[in-house]
Amino acid sequence: MTAAVSIQNVHKVYNNVPVVNNLSLTIQSGESFGLLGPNGAGKSTTIRMLTTLTEPSDGHLVVAGHDVQRQATEVRREIGVVLQQTSVDGDLSVWENMELHGRMHHIPNPQRQRRINQWLEFVELSDRRDDKVKTLSGGMKRRLQIARALLHEPKILFLDEPTVGLDPQTRRRLWEIIRGLNQQGMTMLLTTHYMEEVEYLCHRVGILDQGQLIEAGTLPELRRKHGEGLVMTQQGDRWHYQFFPTLQAANQYLEQQPDKTGMMTRPSNLEDIFVELTGRNLD
Ligand code: ADP
Repeated sequence: MTAAVSIQNVHKVYNNVPVVNNLSLTIQSGESFGLLGPNGAGKSTTIRMLTTLTEPSDGHLVVAGHDVQRQATEVRREIGVVLQQTSVDGDLSVWENMELHGRMHHIPNPQRQRRINQWLEFVELSDRRDDKVKTLSGGMKRRLQIARALLHEPKILFLDEPTVGLDPQTRRRLWEIIRGLNQQGMTMLLTTHYMEEVEYLCHRVGILDQGQLIEAGTLPELRRKHGEGLVMTQQGDRWHYQFFPTLQAANQYLEQQPDKTGMMTRPSNLEDIFVELTGRNLD
């Protein structure tokens, strides 16, 4: 496998404050990688550096085999970007937004029209093609952003918090779209602070906190490392967590307690691991 994204010792400093701090990470071609972390962790900044929108203060970034700083144009040709703020033009129609992007990427007709039709169909917006974007729901706008990002057939798709602020049903629909693209072979790097999003979409996860990658691996790897079973004990209005190698071991521990009041066991999840590592919640 070839690396789709390579981040080596990358730093980003804003006003003397390190926002991304010595980040190193490799994402393989075809992989779906989730960068998980609370607000302010440096996730967007990382995406912005990888997508040529801001320069790193130090370090080396390679995307689709191109040096991000020296070959920005080549990088832009190979990537699709879906950013947090909806960047589609509300006064233009769905089709006009697609057309504009297609022209910017110099996709000739009739190929351009064919691809516009294909991707609008893929995200189920064909019937809204002549409607102004400002009349679409939040979920539809996000789907349009995805369709637009795919128009020039990128190899790697970057998604910055793709489902933030959307209702659970819309979120699930977007997950299916994103997962479908990855199953077709597209490499994905997405940021999120939703644990379920990572669990549903990503082969591998990196936990980012205060600009540092504090953990990376598959979910089973992380659970094995930190403990697959959890004993939760209520202490006043707070819960105390204890990790055990397996759920069975957690259950055995609970069994042995003379007083089980306020205690329960369950399998551990990413959020538990995040709290264990940082002492804070994701939100
Ligand atoms: P996340 O995406 O994980 O929420 P960001 O990468 O957006 O985190 O932000 C990380 C930190 O960098 C925050 O403290 C934010 O205020 C700061 N930051 C982001 N962009 C800028 C900027 N253009 N100028 C100054 N500070 C910034």
